Formats: sequence, structure tokens, C-alpha cells
Amino acid sequence: MDQPLKQRPAIELEGVHVTLPSRAGAVAILRGIDLTVSSGEAMAVVGPSGSGKSTLLMVIGGLERATSGQVTVVGTDFGALDEDGLARLRAGKIGIVFQSFHLVPTMTAIENVALPMEFLGQDDAFAVAKEALSEVGLSHREDHFPGQLSGGEQQRVAIARALSTKPSLILADEPTGNLDQATGAAVMDLLFELKERTGATLLLITHDSDLATRCDRIVSLADGRIVANSDTKADAS
Ligand code: ADP
Ligand code: MG
Repeated sequence: MDQPLKQRPAIELEGVHVTLPSRAGAVAILRGIDLTVSSGEAMAVVGPSGSGKSTLLMVIGGLERATSGQVTVVGTDFGALDEDGLARLRAGKIGIVFQSFHLVPTMTAIENVALPMEFLGQDDAFAVAKEALSEVGLSHREDHFPGQLSGGEQQRVAIARALSTKPSLILADEPTGNLDQATGAAVMDLLFELKERTGATLLLITHDSDLATRCDRIVSLADGRIVANSDTKADAS
């Protein structure tokens, strides 16, 4: 029997493999990932460079297809969706923040934030974008282009864009990787605060062990496999 959406895990992966072609032949990048992330949980993903963290995030975000296995995210079986369906689901339910911001350089801050909502045909895209920029403290930068903003400001625009559609799942791939310590800390405080306020699920890829321990659970990847999965709150007294 189908459970109500709210009680279903935000992420359910079963036997997920990603194998990509290369000149040297097929390369196995993810090798049998089983992972369940509860709705509202904050999950950190750690592991050495090249272990498959970004690929895992891309699969969960519908940006990369699993070669085999089952991917169910926010209650939707990705295998049943075509590219258009995946794009719509991503725009409406999943917010993604990348290390390199991924803003459109020819668009102003407010245009960048409005973009996914315009894609969804939302009439109030610009009004909501204005509010989202205000929430990240950037009302005074609405009409600036990415090139006119600092790294921390660009990442806050990217966060406003990711969260403007009120996604139930936030995916962040080393979001502070291009920021200095203090700016990165402020950006993460903002991300955790918005996550708490909206009750969204968070999957955070990070090299920073302090950040990882702020999450409820830490999953370690090595060579395309999960090698540890630990509850950070289990031993807290
Ligand atoms: P991480 O984020 O943990 O550093 P990635 O998921 O980016 O790891 O990459 C995992 C492995 O897959 C790396 O060895 C990388 O070189 C390889 N890889 C990533 N993308 C591709 C691709 N499009 N084609 C072939 N190999 C890839
Ligand atoms: Mg990566």
C-alpha cells in the first residue's frame, strides 16, 4: 500500500549504479548505492575526491541517470519520468546549490532567482524572487549581475534561487568550496536556517568535518560505494 507522501523517505536509492563510457572503456562511478534519507533529515556526504559524491548528487537531482537500480526522490520514481518530467520535478521540488554558483552571467540577481519559477509558469516569479533575495539579505543587489557580486553574494543568490520554489529537498555540492572561511560559515548558517524554517530535507556534500557533524547523519563514499553511514546524534548525551 502506498504511504502518504509526507511519511515517505525523501530519497530512496536501491542498487544504483552509474557507469559512464570513457576512451579506456566503461568506468564504474557508482557501484551499488543503497540509501534512504528521511523527510526533513540533514545528511552529509563525505569522501575523497573522485569517490562519486557529485555523481550521487546529480543522480538524486535528476541531472544524471542511473545506469541501473531504483531512484525514488520526493516520492517519484525517476525511472518513470522523461527528461521534461525530470526538469519539472527538479524546478518544483528540488533546490540545488553548486560550489561554483552556476548563475547565468547575463542575468541580474533577481532574474536568476526568478528563472526556475518562470520555467514553472509562475505569474508571481519576480515578486517571490524579490522576497527570496530579501531573505538572504540581498535586496540591495537585485539588479546586479553575478560579475558585480562577491563570491559570498553570488552563493546567496544561488541559495535564493534554489529555495524560491520552496523545494522539499535541498542538494548542496560543496557550497562553501569557493568561499573564504568566514563567508562560507555565514552561507552555511543561512542554508541551515532556511532548511530548518522550511522543514526541507538537506543533502550536503562537504569536506568540512564540522559542517558534516552539524547534519543528522554522515554517509562516507569511497570508490563509488557507501563505506560508512553514521548517526551524528546517536551518542549525544
Ligand atoms: P567527487 O564529487 O567525489 O569528487 P565525482 O562524482 O565528481 O566525484 O566523480 C567520480 C569519478 O567519476 C571520478 O573518477 C571522475 O573522474 C569520474 N567522472 C565523473 N564524471 C565523468 C564523466 N562524465 N565521464 C567519465 N568519468 C567521469
Ligand atoms: Mg565533487
